[in-house]
Amino acid sequence: MATAIEPATYTAPEIRQTQMLIGGEWRDSVSGKTFATINPATEKVIAEVAEGDAADIDLAVKSARAAFESGTWATLDARDRGKLITKLANLLEDNFDELAALESLDNGKPISDSCAADLPLVIDCLHYYAGWADKIHGDTIPIRGNNFCYTRREPLGVAGQIIPWNFPMLMTAWKWGPALAAGCTIVMKPAEQTPLTCLRMAELAMEAGFPPGVINVVPGYGPTAGAALVKHPGVDKIAFTGEHRTAQIIMADAAQTLKRLTFELGGKSPNIVFADADLDAAVAGAEFGLFFNQGQCCCAGSRLFVEESVHEEFVDKMIERANGRVLGNPFDAKTTQGPQVDRAQFEKILGYIDKGKEQGAACVAGGNRFGDKGYFIEPTIFTGVTDDMAIATDEIFGPVMNILSFKDFDEVVDRANRTNFGLAAAVWTKDVSKAHRIAHSVRAGTVWVNCYDVFDAAAPFGGFKMSGIGRECGEAALANYTELKTVTMSLG
Ligand code: ADP
Repeated sequence: MATAIEPATYTAPEIRQTQMLIGGEWRDSVSGKTFATINPATEKVIAEVAEGDAADIDLAVKSARAAFESGTWATLDARDRGKLITKLANLLEDNFDELAALESLDNGKPISDSCAADLPLVIDCLHYYAGWADKIHGDTIPIRGNNFCYTRREPLGVAGQIIPWNFPMLMTAWKWGPALAAGCTIVMKPAEQTPLTCLRMAELAMEAGFPPGVINVVPGYGPTAGAALVKHPGVDKIAFTGEHRTAQIIMADAAQTLKRLTFELGGKSPNIVFADADLDAAVAGAEFGLFFNQGQCCCAGSRLFVEESVHEEFVDKMIERANGRVLGNPFDAKTTQGPQVDRAQFEKILGYIDKGKEQGAACVAGGNRFGDKGYFIEPTIFTGVTDDMAIATDEIFGPVMNILSFKDFDEVVDRANRTNFGLAAAVWTKDVSKAHRIAHSVRAGTVWVNCYDVFDAAAPFGGFKMSGIGRECGEAALANYTELKTVTMSLG
C-alpha cells in the first residue's frame, strides 16, 4: 500500500454548472442560498452550488407537472423519446473525459474507476432504456362475455428522484433511463456531497433537446429539498436510493399523499467462500466486492464467510492484497483507492474500526487514517469476527472487511440470512449444484456465483427485506414508472 498523496497529475475539469435546472432554465435558488461541495481528497471547496429548498422544489414540480400534462412528452412518438435518450447517451460519450474527471473530483473515486466502471455503465444504461421506449405495451386479455379487453402501460406522471453520492452519475442514469423511456417527467435531487455531475448531465440533456420541464434538477439537502419533494402533492412517485433509515422517513412523509415508492437501500451482503473454490479468484473477487469504490457500495460483500479449512490461507492472501492497494490522488492512474466521500462518513467508519477493536476482533490489516489530508482510510481487515459484533451487523460503507469462519453449508446459509438486509450475496465454489443451492437459499435480490459486482443495465437489481422495494435496471424498472390501465369494451 501507501504511496504518499502526490500533487495532482491531472488538470481538474472546468466547473460549468452550479445552478439549478427548472423548466429548461438555469437559475439561482429562490432564497439565494448556496452550499459548498468539497473535494474529499484535499478537503478544499470545489464550488458553491445553488441550494434548493421547498420554494425551488415547488417551482420544479410545477414545471414537471406542466410538461407532463401538456402531453408533449408523454404522447411524443415513443420511438422519438427513445431517440432523445440515445442522443443524451451519445453526448455523454462525447464528453467522457470531462465527466469522468468531474466525478472523481466531486466524489473522490479513482479516475481509473470513473473511466472503466461508472461512465461505461451510465452510457450503456441510457442506450438500454432508449431501446425500451417504443416497447412498453399492454396485453389483450380474453375475459368472459362478448367483450374486448386490453391493458395499457401509461406513464406514471411526475417522478421525484432522490439519489446518494456513491455513484452520482450512475444513479442518475438508473433513475432517468426508465422514467424517460416510460414518458414520465422528473424532478431530481442529487446528493448534497456530489451535485456536479448530475448538473452537467442535465446540461447535456438540454443540449440533446429534451423539452423544458421534462428534466428538472434541484440540488440541496435531504431534510429540506428532499423532504419537500417527498411531501409535494404534485409528485406521483418517489424513487429513492440511500440509507434504510432515510427510507423510513420518506415512507412516513409520503403517506399523506399515498405516493408510489421504490427504494434501493443498504445491505450487509454475505460473500461465501467454500474450500473447493478457486481460492485466488475468490480472494481477488472478495477484494473487489468489498474495497471497490472505497467500500461505499450498497451491495458490498461486507460479511465474508470463509470455510474453516481454508480460512488461514485465505486470510494471508487477503492481507497481502489489501496491503497492495494504492491509496492517493484520485487523478493518478495508479491509484486504486481514493478518499471516503466526506468527513461524516470518514468519522463514522473510523468509529466502527474502533468498535471492532473494542469488541475483540483482530485487526490484521490497516485500521487507521491514511495520511493527514483528505478522508483516506487504510484498507482494513478484521478476523475473529463473530455474528453479533457491530462490524458484522451494521452497514459500515467503508473499506472495512470482516472475515468470519464457517464449518458447513447449512450453518453458513442460516448465518448469511440472519440479517434484516437482503440486497446481494455471492458464493465461490467449483461445485455447480452447491452454487445453485446457495443462490436459491440466500434471501437477497442478486446472487453472484464466482464473481462480484457484475452489473448490467438489463439485469434487475434491488433488495429483499429492508434492502428495498422494487427493482432498478432491466425491464423490471419500467414498472416503477408506469400505471397499468385496463380498458374493456362491450362488443355486444
Ligand atoms: P447518506 O447518509 O449515505 O448520505 P442518505 O440516505 O442520508 O444517505 O442520503 C441519500 C439521499 O437522500 C441524499 O440525496 C439526501 O440528501 C437525501 N435525504 C436525506 N434525508 C432525506 C429526507 N428526510 N427526505 C428526503 N431525502 C432525504
